[in-house]
Amino acid sequence: MSWEVVIGLEVHVQINTKTKAFCGCSTEFGAEPNTQTCPVCLGMPGQLPVLNSEAVNKTVLTGLAINAQINLESKFDRKNYFYPDLPKGYQISQFAVPLVEHGYLDIPTAEGEKRIGITRIHMEEDAGKSLHEGLDGVSHIDLNRSGIPLMEIVSEPDMRSADEAVAYLKQLHQLVRFLDVSGADMEKGQFRCDANVSVRRRGEPLGTRAELKNLNSFRFIKQAIEYEANRQIELIEDGGTVVQETRLYDSVRGESRSMRSKEEAHDYRYFPEPDLPPLRLSQQQVDAIRDGMPELPGQLRQRFESEYGLSPYDADVLSQTRELAGWYEALVAAHPSDPKRCANWLANELLGRLKEAGRDIEDSPISARQLAGLLDRIEDGTISGKIAKDVLTDMMADGRDADAIIEAKGLKQVSDTGAIDAMIREVFEANPQQLEQYRAGREKLFGFFVGQVMKASKGQANPALVNQRLKALLDG
Ligand code: ADP
Ligand code: MG
Ligand code: ZN
Repeated sequence: MSWEVVIGLEVHVQINTKTKAFCGCSTEFGAEPNTQTCPVCLGMPGQLPVLNSEAVNKTVLTGLAINAQINLESKFDRKNYFYPDLPKGYQISQFAVPLVEHGYLDIPTAEGEKRIGITRIHMEEDAGKSLHEGLDGVSHIDLNRSGIPLMEIVSEPDMRSADEAVAYLKQLHQLVRFLDVSGADMEKGQFRCDANVSVRRRGEPLGTRAELKNLNSFRFIKQAIEYEANRQIELIEDGGTVVQETRLYDSVRGESRSMRSKEEAHDYRYFPEPDLPPLRLSQQQVDAIRDGMPELPGQLRQRFESEYGLSPYDADVLSQTRELAGWYEALVAAHPSDPKRCANWLANELLGRLKEAGRDIEDSPISARQLAGLLDRIEDGTISGKIAKDVLTDMMADGRDADAIIEAKGLKQVSDTGAIDAMIREVFEANPQQLEQYRAGREKLFGFFVGQVMKASKGQANPALVNQRLKALLDG
């Protein structure tokens, strides 16, 4: 019997506005608890919310980027529930008529591109945070987060594996960062995912789903979905049935446990928010937002391929973030003769070393102009690519320019025929047997001589010239 896993994702994205959704409090992360609050976001009775138009614009921009319909009239509703981090006793959300509907995202899969439907994006406000750790058994509430604007992005149940779910999330994560609508830092809770998972035998209608909460890294999301799908399959094969519930994934134990039975929409007693009028936008407003759309990851990738002749792989690597793409373009501007060399050195050398140190391109100790300076010296034959790697190590250690290091360490490539001929003669003298064998017809030994001369020069001999002079002296 072949099982199929079905996944639909609900992603909460904090919108990176300066102030909260319905009041003027700062959204800055990391402040002292409860210092960024006011009567509105503390839920004091009688306080009126005023909608942050920047949050609306950023939600519309996201909607346009996923090719969705923008509803020119949408509504706010109250979602009622009790929890200590929700002082009003309700969350302002959009239920009946969301701002954005019917979009999609194309994701890469092993079988090629796949289109994942996005049902809706609605606006809502974040809740506060309960703090339990290190407080001797008491819990504290921090309401700095209360009222930060969120987009909830709800997908269709279109994904069929944990890998597809992760591919979708990565694509969405990259998109909101390119659009600059969210910092999307998962460790700060700016990009949070709930996964709905069900299983069915191929061809059957959708099975009953469980909703997994608390998935705060791509790795845990994959683990949690795989664990949950296997749990459901075993349960059904043992004659049981899946119940609709909310489950919490425990990344330490690598398993999920039931948190509560799944609430239905009617449990929230949704009703229209009386303190906010319907949200009305004009088509001109939406068009203006569309006109300001930045270059999207897919467009950037294609441009890197066509404009700079990069392979699809390199184009993908270098378009992961706007910062990285910008760095690459600055590098090409400073070393315009060879965009592919720029791509190789950035993607393979610089990024590789930064990654080892756990750093991003934003923390690079050398600038794009400095790396270009190193590439110039490879191009004009001053140093070989091999020596350049050592120079880069030194540059990254102390921030000096390539030229200063090449000069100080005397690394200039030897391109002087006389000096190279002298080294070749020394190698011949040291290896008379090989010389004899070569002259007797073992032409394979040519490589051996190249290696010996390079070694004698400590890697500084110009390899092309070594080849040329060796040929002349051996065969001449
Ligand atoms: P709720 O608001 O109660 O969470 P929704 O109908 O809005 O319910 O669905 C939430 C998410 O669950 C959506 O992403 C949807 O694609 C997904 N989903 C719905 N049914 C299933 C199912 N049978 N298996 C997996 N995911 C599902
Ligand atoms: Mg839900
Ligand atoms: Zn406030």
